[in-house]
Formats: sequence, C-alpha cells, structure tokens
Amino acid sequence: MSMIIDGKAVSAKVKENVRDEIAELKKKGITAGLAVIIVGDDPASKVYVRNKKLACEFCGIDSYEYALPAETTQDELISLVKKLNADERVDGILCQLPLPEHIDEKAVIDNISPDKDVDAFHPVNVGRIMIGDYRFLPCTPAGVMELIASTGVEVKGKECVVVGRSNIVGKPMAMLLLHNSGTVTVCHSKTKDLAEHCRKADILVAAVGVPKLITGDMIKDGAVVIDVGVNRLENGKLCGDVDFESAKEKASYITPVPGGVGPMTIAMLMKNTLAAAKMKAAE
Ligand code: NDP
Repeated sequence: MSMIIDGKAVSAKVKENVRDEIAELKKKGITAGLAVIIVGDDPASKVYVRNKKLACEFCGIDSYEYALPAETTQDELISLVKKLNADERVDGILCQLPLPEHIDEKAVIDNISPDKDVDAFHPVNVGRIMIGDYRFLPCTPAGVMELIASTGVEVKGKECVVVGRSNIVGKPMAMLLLHNSGTVTVCHSKTKDLAEHCRKADILVAAVGVPKLITGDMIKDGAVVIDVGVNRLENGKLCGDVDFESAKEKASYITPVPGGVGPMTIAMLMKNTLAAAKMKAAE
C-alpha cells in the first residue's frame, strides 16, 4: 500500500514561498510581472490562463493578459512578443500552447527573450538545462522534482525510468533526474518491452498520454511513481498514464490524477517568474 503524494499541498507550499519572497522584493521597490498570451477560444487553454491569473494574484505577481482572436497572424503575435520583451514591467512571458495551426509555435518561442522565457522552451534555455547551468526549469519536470523531494526519497544512485521523450516533459525530465545523479532510462513508443524497463525503476515517471498504460505488474515493489499524464476518459473523468488502483498496491509513493503533478506546473511557473524578477533586480 502506498502513500499518496498530495500535489495540491506541495504546490501550495511552493506558492506560499514565492508569495513571501515577492513581498520581500516589494519592500525594496521591485515588482514581478507575468504576461500571458492566449490566441483563440480553446476552452482548456482559457481555464489554464485563468488559473495562472489566480496564482499570480495569490503570489502578488502582476499579471498582464493578452487575449487575441484566433485569426491573429504570426507576425502580429511576434510583434506583441517583441513589445513585451522590451516592457520593463514584464519579467515573464508565456504564450499559451497550442497555438492555431497557421502559427508556427517554434517561431514564436524563438522570439521570446530567453531572460523572460518562464516556460523554459527557448533553445537557449533548453541548452542551459542540458549543461546544468539553468535559470528557469521547465515547469512540469521541475514540479515532478519537487514532488519526488517531498517524499524524502533521494534520486542519487536510483534507477529512474521516464516513459515519454517529448521536448516539454520527457527529455527535460530525464535531464533533471540525471543532474540529480539518478541512473536514467528513457522509454518511448518504439521501446521493446516497456514493462521490463519499468519493473527496474526505483523512480518511475510516466509522461505518455495513454490512459492506464502502466499497470501494477509493471511496477517494482516500493517504487516512487509519478504520473504526469492527463487523459480524459469517455465518461468525462480524468485519468493518468498509470493504472492508479493496481499501481498503489506496489508503489511506496504515488501521485493521483488529478491532484498530483497538475497543480505543480502553475506553482513552478510562479517560481520561474520570481526568478526572472530577481534576475532583473540583480542587473
Ligand atoms: P507527447 O505526445 O508530446 O509525447 C508522448 C510521449 O509518449 C512520446 O515520446 C511517445 O513516444 C511516448 N509514447 C506514446 N505511446 C507510447 C507507448 N505506448 N509506450 C511508450 N511510450 C509511448 O506528450 P507530452 O509529453 O506533451 O505529454 C504527455 C502527457 O502528459 C499527456 O497526457 C499530457 O496531457 C500530460 N501533461 C501534463 C502536464 C501537467 O501539468 N500535468 C503538462 C504537460 C503534459 P514517441 O516519441 O516514440 O512518439
């Protein structure tokens, strides 16, 4: 039987720490600002943007929302990004993904100043993560590291298996575990015998997008299991990439979906915005 990792509680602590540090900065006359750009009417994106605004309010971060129509051109969007790059009130810029199909996401990300790239998607920040000299960590993998830390289980020397190799989650996740001296295996859709790899994991991170792909029989006794997946079932309920019911019989610690990794992502965005404001203050 495993302990359930409470992502809401861990994320609340992260946000409280950010709020306290922002209050200290304000005493020195330094404010922190986050600009969030949303293009189009995607309902899920609107919810994410609203939650980001609420988190900013909680932390004392000024939030600037730019809701643009779906027909906004790539040039118009990049012009806005450049304007925000030069705006001193803005420490972090986040462009809510996905963007409409006629806009090249990479072109937009490449135009965000690396110093304000609080999602850590810009190639400069991706490169910095690779060499272990980072200012911002990508929010979801950084949130996973906080959740692992909250268990008290050390990553050093552990067999770590990451299922998924996306640029946003899987690859940076593997790098962070490696920087923390885990022995890391990355699995993907072409991996032969996924179960065999998973069964070796002391720390297993699933970031796939396939409901309940990882079942209890694929989990080593006592493993820490972190489920990044967010999948909507036919009955409307959310579920992860891990079959929670069978996995919790084997894991020592496990995250639920929802209420595990999800709340951490926004908390880490707040942390990155704080880091950007501190960088500005140090200039
Ligand atoms: P992607 O679709 O970009 O990547 C999925 C990865 O899973 C790919 O590397 C793919 O392999 C691999 N994969 C697919 N099928 C299998 C399989 N059967 N066995 C092994 N590996 C497989 O997804 P993301 O990384 O963006 O997201 C992953 C999940 O995490 C999604 O459910 C997403 O909603 C969720 N997510 C949650 C966040 C949160 O805040 N909680 C934030 C971001 C994502 P290949 O490369 O070979 O195609």
